[in-house]
Amino acid sequence: HAKEGRKSNFCFFSEELHQKITNRLELERDLRRAVGQGELELWYQPKMNLSSSRLIGMEALLRWKHPVYGIIAPGQFIHIAEETNLITPIGEWVLKEACRQMKVWLEHGMEGLSVAVNISFRQFADHEFPELVAKALHEAGLPPQYLELEITESVAQNAMHAISALTKIKELGVGVSIDDFGTGYSSLSYLSQFPIDRLKIDQSFVRNLNASNQAIIRSILDIANHMNITVIAEGVETLEQVHFLQQHRCQEAQGYYYSKPLPAEQAFEYMVKHSGKT
Ligand code: C2E
Ligand code: MG
Ligand code: MG
Ligand code: MG
Repeated sequence: HAKEGRKSNFCFFSEELHQKITNRLELERDLRRAVGQGELELWYQPKMNLSSSRLIGMEALLRWKHPVYGIIAPGQFIHIAEETNLITPIGEWVLKEACRQMKVWLEHGMEGLSVAVNISFRQFADHEFPELVAKALHEAGLPPQYLELEITESVAQNAMHAISALTKIKELGVGVSIDDFGTGYSSLSYLSQFPIDRLKIDQSFVRNLNASNQAIIRSILDIANHMNITVIAEGVETLEQVHFLQQHRCQEAQGYYYSKPLPAEQAFEYMVKHSGKT
């Protein structure tokens, strides 16, 4: 029987699938070395204030400079990192690198800005995570108000842990955003239980401003306003979207309309132009 099963598996093992699996093992092997080899890089995407059109901060977005495949976006490897626990060393590197970079920018006079770091639910689940954040700030010499963490609604699955971890993070003085808001499965009740500063409306609602997405955005703004939570719209690409968001008093926006994610040096040039200091 076992033999038969294997045989039939073999039949379904198409060339294409084989390619994918080899590729995945290859990526996993390469990813294991990427941190040590210095192949990871952070790019930065501006976040803007919608009433002043000024820059308020930068979101760090991970890029992998693969020696053969070139620049790989996180959508293609973060899930592998999560499944293999490589997210631990990678996430630690991201946190430290973002703090180091923000400290450099601070020393160049960018006091009005902050840096946001995406945190995987796997990293967040680790009981030592708040200490890791404290350590990253301390090592970089970065005051906590210049750091913000972006977590997704998925962390609400373990509400007790999330409340305790978020409370510790807030005690450090670090900001917290809920990323991709509106796409998760969790209930709205956690909004009142979790100490959060900002909601990031998922780009899927912003991209297509049809009647129902407009209604969803208005509801999110309404709830957030009542709770004193700032709202930022993600994936803003057009002036029409900017106008809609301004009309409905959305405070902040981020997207290709302003800028794509930029390598650190170009991000600094963008800052100099848009921070309102010049
Ligand atoms: P996210 O945090 O929701 O980031 C927004 C993603 O949308 C980014 O893709 C960004 O480049 C893209 N984006 C921004 N504005 C626009 C726009 O106007 N139009 C369109 N079409 N796209 C836009 P990216 O950099 O490929 O990152 C994808 C996701 O990977 C992120 O989604 C985040 O969940 C995850 N990620 C990125 N960096 C890290 C990291 O350092 N650690 C972890 N754990 N996850 C990360
Ligand atoms: Mg994010
Ligand atoms: Mg998002
Ligand atoms: Mg996302």
